[in-house]
Amino acid sequence: MELTLCLIKPDAVRRDLTGSVLYMIEKAGLKVMAMKMIRLDKRLAEGFYHVHSERPFFGELTEYMASGPIVAVVLAGDNAIKRYRDLMGATDPAQAAEGTIRKVFALSKQENSVHGSDAPETAAFETAYFFS
Ligand code: UDP
Ligand code: MG
Repeated sequence: MELTLCLIKPDAVRRDLTGSVLYMIEKAGLKVMAMKMIRLDKRLAEGFYHVHSERPFFGELTEYMASGPIVAVVLAGDNAIKRYRDLMGATDPAQAAEGTIRKVFALSKQENSVHGSDAPETAAFETAYFFS
């Protein structure tokens, strides 16, 4: 069994898609282990995305992540990190496969509705960032 972190991002929470995203996750057989709604400030968003601090989109990304409430969710399952990444779809919704969360809900490459950890090390850091 593996744990991974999902964030339902501000664009999705704002459009009342929290339940719809969770429905897709649960239907895919991933287990919700912990969940909370929070509002990041710029500093917390920067800490979460520190690996991207040198990227040109870092300023806009962290502004957007602090623009409204998000829902942080710990997911569990066999191979949960990869299974949830596959369910999310590609970063850019224009490239995302049919039936993925981003294909269905994302607005743009930035406002792409969900986050998911990409490796065991990032999953450990990211779950601990929001949950004790
Ligand atoms: N992002 C962006 N522009 C880009 C690439 C990424 O605004 O050109 C944002 C987008 O919200 C993405 C986040 O930065 O989800 C983190 O980027 P990453 O490459 O880690 O994509 P992810 O792992 O979320 O698919
Ligand atoms: Mg990433």
